[in-house]
Amino acid sequence: MRAHEAGALHGDIGSRGPAWLRPPADVNALVPQLWPGNTARGADGALTVAGLDVRDIAAEFGTPLYVLDEDDLRARCRAFRDAFSADDVYYAGKAFLCRAVVRMIAEEGLFLDVCSGGELAVALAAGMPPERIGFHGNNKSVAELSRALEAGVGRIIVDSFTELDRLTALARERGVRPGVLIRVTVGVEAHTHEFIATAHEDQKFGFSLAGGSALAAALRVLDEGVLELRGLHSHIGSQIFDTSGFEVSARRVLTLQAQIRDARGVQLPELDLGGGFGIAYTSQDDPAVPQDLADRLRKIVEFECAAERLAVPRLSVEPGRAIVGPAVFTLYEVGTVKDVDGIRTYVSVDGGMSDNIRTALYDASYSATLASRASAAGPLLARVVGKHCESGDIVVKDEFLPADVQPGDLVAVPGTGAYCRSMASNYNHVPRPGVVAVRNGRARLIVRPETEEDLLALDVG
Ligand SMILES: *Cc1c(COP(=O)(O)O)cnc(C)c1O
Repeated sequence: MRAHEAGALHGDIGSRGPAWLRPPADVNALVPQLWPGNTARGADGALTVAGLDVRDIAAEFGTPLYVLDEDDLRARCRAFRDAFSADDVYYAGKAFLCRAVVRMIAEEGLFLDVCSGGELAVALAAGMPPERIGFHGNNKSVAELSRALEAGVGRIIVDSFTELDRLTALARERGVRPGVLIRVTVGVEAHTHEFIATAHEDQKFGFSLAGGSALAAALRVLDEGVLELRGLHSHIGSQIFDTSGFEVSARRVLTLQAQIRDARGVQLPELDLGGGFGIAYTSQDDPAVPQDLADRLRKIVEFECAAERLAVPRLSVEPGRAIVGPAVFTLYEVGTVKDVDGIRTYVSVDGGMSDNIRTALYDASYSATLASRASAAGPLLARVVGKHCESGDIVVKDEFLPADVQPGDLVAVPGTGAYCRSMASNYNHVPRPGVVAVRNGRARLIVRPETEEDLLALDVG
């Protein structure tokens, strides 16, 4: 599970790269866990996806471009669906949302989480059955809540007393009884290979467990009887590899569930453990398969329920990254290659922090490969950077590329399906890339690339 010390990932030691990074035996080899399932190298060495050559994709749609392996995405949905067959799997739409993806996840039997009016609009426009939508967010407006009630959204995850009042008033006004979960801040924070358990949490999401407001919120909903309290919700972080954080959070949230039972004699039927399941961004990451995750989470919940003498509630989980992240790679064209005084080679591509902010924002690590051809040249430690006016505009901090990488080559960066297009910006007035879905040798645009006309269309001054 844990192939390295997390700290080593960040150890930047110049031209040698981080300690874990070793020159590969074959610089053209694709590390299987990094790439969508239908990616390979074709007969002449260029990258192919679902039978299509990336050079043809780039020629037709341009670069930079997000390339989605549709069958890979669908397979990941099914893997979660099958692993959590007794439970509900909500795809966290904030990872990446467009109408085509909504239809794909719906067809594969998933539910959908949204966390803004805009995401709800996309879900409804794509025909997602409203009863299969969950609505998140720490500051849902009256307009957003009204829209959710009008649409008949399946459940609303309530985050504050202000929202509770707002939603209760709206539900009374309309004479409806929406299903709600209480978002509980359990004092567990999990990121990558570590988690921290604390007694209290200084963060904006949810009702505090330790401070008693989570219990107070649940009792208020039950006593008022306007909203239907379905259960409790906790989400402990992102890019999590170690399930012990879920163990602590499940224990804490089920203790609260037992307190609610003791106070009001009510057994809440549902429990949502959130998302955050990790994916592989580099050869160092080795994520658990959904079946193992499901087995572990179920065991944890069954154990804690037995301890509290609770019936096992219906579980739900909310994977975003683990569904869409590995199904997509970004295709870039190399513009310049610069050797900086023998310290490091900078390979500049035609996108950057506007299409992938995660490296700058989270110090995230990515991988890359030369995609338009195979090369017989030896490995060169490179840093893949973008075209923005910012020295922190790094896409891939350290990667071995063939030493003959040159302008005009295509470079592909895997694992960019989650939180890249959805967090994309127009910094430097660079148009945001489109998204192409590839399946059975055919590519179709599902999000059109922006144009300069799009940018100017908003500029009405
Ligand atoms: C972001 C988020 C998720 C999804 O997280 P991933 O890391 O993409 O799996 C799930 N639930 C909630 C409440 C979230 O905020």
